[in-house]
Amino acid sequence: MDYYGKRMSKLIEQLSALPGIGSKSAQRLAFHIIHMPEERVKQLTDAITDARENVRYCKECCTLTDQEICPICSNPARDKRTIMVVETTRDLAAYEKTGKYEGVYHVLHGAISPMLGVGPGDIRLKELIKRLEGDVSEVIIATNSSLEGETTAMYISKLIKPTGIKVSRIASGVPVGGDLEYIDEMTLLRALEGRVEL
Ligand code: ZN
Repeated sequence: MDYYGKRMSKLIEQLSALPGIGSKSAQRLAFHIIHMPEERVKQLTDAITDARENVRYCKECCTLTDQEICPICSNPARDKRTIMVVETTRDLAAYEKTGKYEGVYHVLHGAISPMLGVGPGDIRLKELIKRLEGDVSEVIIATNSSLEGETTAMYISKLIKPTGIKVSRIASGVPVGGDLEYIDEMTLLRALEGRVEL
């Protein structure tokens, strides 16, 4: 039954297709949007279109950015010889919030998961290997402690070992299966400082 009319239903349908938005939330958001001043709605849709059109991957670390090279990679104060490998840009943001890490990052945009059919070629690994041809002294693997994160960490360490570059893994103080972005800054710092060489 189409209680709300075609246009309203279409909006609800679009919203409920977003992750974490159930049909109740979608309806609530749709009603909220309908009651917003038109100018505000335009600001919202413009922000969505603009972000989608202009956000891209940093040419060096693959994080999401609206510049060719992200602000972290283009900051001369950052230590380019230390690369921390994370699964997502949100994980990068979690480490940046600690304000204590001075190296650079590499964002994989996922983790290897044989179960979900995600292989090494499906994440940004090639780009990481390419970076290792430069002057790199340590790769810190900070993937999640989930099965996928551990699989990815093992895969990367095997790949890097022969190059002679130091490979370390953040300490297992990070709760198993815990998403890095939900862990507090102290825990992240302890995990980083307590990293072990692989
Ligand atoms: Zn970058």
